[in-house]
Amino acid sequence: MKELTVTESSEPQRPKKPDWLRVKLPIGESYKNVRNLVDTHKLHTICESGNCPNMGECWGAGTATFMILGNICTRSCGFCAVATGKPEAVDWDEPQRVAEAIHLMKVKHAVITSVDRDEIKDGGSVIWYNTIKAVKLLNADTTLETLIPDFKGEKENLQRIIDAAPEVISHNIETVERLTRQVRIQAKYRRSMEVLKFLKEKNARTKSGIMLGLGETREEVLQTMRDLRESGVDVITLGQYLQPTRNHLPVMRFAHPDEFAEYRQAGYEMGFDYVESGPLVRSSYHSERHVFAGIGKQQWEAEKNKN
Ligand code: SF4
Repeated sequence: MKELTVTESSEPQRPKKPDWLRVKLPIGESYKNVRNLVDTHKLHTICESGNCPNMGECWGAGTATFMILGNICTRSCGFCAVATGKPEAVDWDEPQRVAEAIHLMKVKHAVITSVDRDEIKDGGSVIWYNTIKAVKLLNADTTLETLIPDFKGEKENLQRIIDAAPEVISHNIETVERLTRQVRIQAKYRRSMEVLKFLKEKNARTKSGIMLGLGETREEVLQTMRDLRESGVDVITLGQYLQPTRNHLPVMRFAHPDEFAEYRQAGYEMGFDYVESGPLVRSSYHSERHVFAGIGKQQWEAEKNKN
């Protein structure tokens, strides 16, 4: 029998990480300042829990995406680095601590997200409401993006977020319809679309995101973008999926920057107000640019007229 050599490993062949995904290391005083505030206020960030490749850049610029309702999620999405299990009891002081940290960071724009808390009757929407209100009270000039769970589509819970009035409400579709069961095990593609539609009907500025590299086709990406537009989504982000650990879904391919540029173009043609598309784009990346209507579209039209 022929001996198995290293190159004939039984491991499936994985695509090699391309150069365009190399990221900058965390540096500088701002980074240390954010680190210190997060630790002293006993807060969680999706930047750390989600192994975000842009953490150095964002923290270095003095911004972070806070993750409320603890750091243990009741769901177990195949791509996500956040721990799954039985979450700790709800911490009713957390809204105030988040508000204070944002105040001390002196940021003009903040992003808040949460784990899913399917075991709580209100899905965590009351803590969400309290957090948005506390942040607004202490930081009157700070704009806020809230990246929310689907709350199992329950309108009463979604309404609480609308009532708290953050500037942007986002809910990520994450992947195409065919792969949703595999990628977001406890979620439903159509239910997420309904959530986004409901938010838009209530006049919220809405946002959603897709990851590339999980096995989707180009046509499926475009169809998902069209579905999001039909649900009234204003802002869309498209980025490359990176496997956080060997236990997570593998990367099927690394989409080339040119492909991301094509989706950007297609997105504006479909009528999105802002399209953020690139290998390192994550949901919260450059999110301060997504608050006000017209900026992305104007920039794209100016680029078009130049060419
Ligand atoms: S619901 Fe959100 S935090 Fe929970 S596992 Fe899925 S992506 Fe991660």
